[in-house]
Amino acid sequence: MDRDRILLTPGPLTTTLRTKLAMLHDWGSWDADFIAVTASLRRRLLAIVHGQDSHVLVPLQGSGTFSVEAAVATLVPPSEQGGHVLVLDNGAYCKRAGKLTQMMGRRCSVLGFAEDQPVSAEALDAKLHADPSVSHVILIHCETGAGVENPLAEVAAVCERHGKGLIVDAMSSFAALPIDARSVRFDALVAASGKCLEGVPGMGFVFIRKAVLERCAGNSQSLAMDLHDQHTYMEKTGQWRFTPPTHVVVALAEAISQFEELGGQPARLARYTDNCAVLVAGLSALGLRPYLKPQHQAPIIVTFHAPEHPAYDFKRFYDAARARGFLLYPGKLTQVETFRVGCIGAIGRNEMQQAVNAVAEALQDMGIPTGPPAL
Ligand SMILES: *Cc1c(COP(=O)(O)O)cnc(C)c1O
Repeated sequence: MDRDRILLTPGPLTTTLRTKLAMLHDWGSWDADFIAVTASLRRRLLAIVHGQDSHVLVPLQGSGTFSVEAAVATLVPPSEQGGHVLVLDNGAYCKRAGKLTQMMGRRCSVLGFAEDQPVSAEALDAKLHADPSVSHVILIHCETGAGVENPLAEVAAVCERHGKGLIVDAMSSFAALPIDARSVRFDALVAASGKCLEGVPGMGFVFIRKAVLERCAGNSQSLAMDLHDQHTYMEKTGQWRFTPPTHVVVALAEAISQFEELGGQPARLARYTDNCAVLVAGLSALGLRPYLKPQHQAPIIVTFHAPEHPAYDFKRFYDAARARGFLLYPGKLTQVETFRVGCIGAIGRNEMQQAVNAVAEALQDMGIPTGPPAL
């Protein structure tokens, strides 16, 4: 097989040759050329959410979780100073956000929802009426655990009405689902290089609302995670505070150029929506059932029930699909046995159709019958 395996995962994901080729050079972090790349990256990322007037963009080294942790550390004051986070929890990434908030010693409450449902803005409204001590709400825009799209605009409106800060983990939705900072108010929104922008993994970034930025000074108990400090230094020098992931940064700049050339967020959403439709139709025809109702499904990653057949084993299934050039993703649900297939990355309907064929053959390898479910 003369091509890399297709990554049907929610990051890292399949990238274009052009993005990979951008990494073939060495860059000095102090050099004017690299400083210009960072500046243009920050400007272009802001434009994607129309946040030029309202927000600043602060990049951070590390995987996406590092930036979620940094956003909480930077925005939420210690509890003695009134910091109290409420996590809207409908899955694994919500639980991770709650855990990191707690581990930083911030006060943390959780409002729980079912894993196969979006979180409810009405329930949030009631909770904020009942407990006015909450200072910040954390919302995961697309809960990558099951693939649910959560109601960002509705949640943001409730937070604004109650005067609460909103921190959004938009890791797996940014650049694909629409997010408009002019109409949706958030204090921080977090995403990363290796998701829907189709860069390589290694850096995250956080949009911080200008109106709250000054109040963030001194909140962070961590030097490396302090986004206020990172921003102040970057404004002053154009440089990253500590060694930047230079190759990741230039690859992301190249990936954003392709994103812009291909029509930006609406075009990306259209391609992923098509990928998702081809996938769901193809696997449904094999008798595999999506876990979510279609109206809750974001076109990012699809959870399927594992086949109810004694011969099914995820590891064998994975290996059989891998041998055909496709990497699947294990399920992340606690109650039911599932597997996941990503719709994102530099892939289109041809790759999705090939992936469906690979799954069909993998099931045949294991002796599991395929075909539409018996009526
Ligand atoms: C990918 C992802 C993250 C970050 O995960 P990392 O492994 O740290 O990159 C956070 N939240 C969501 C919703 C994600 O999809």
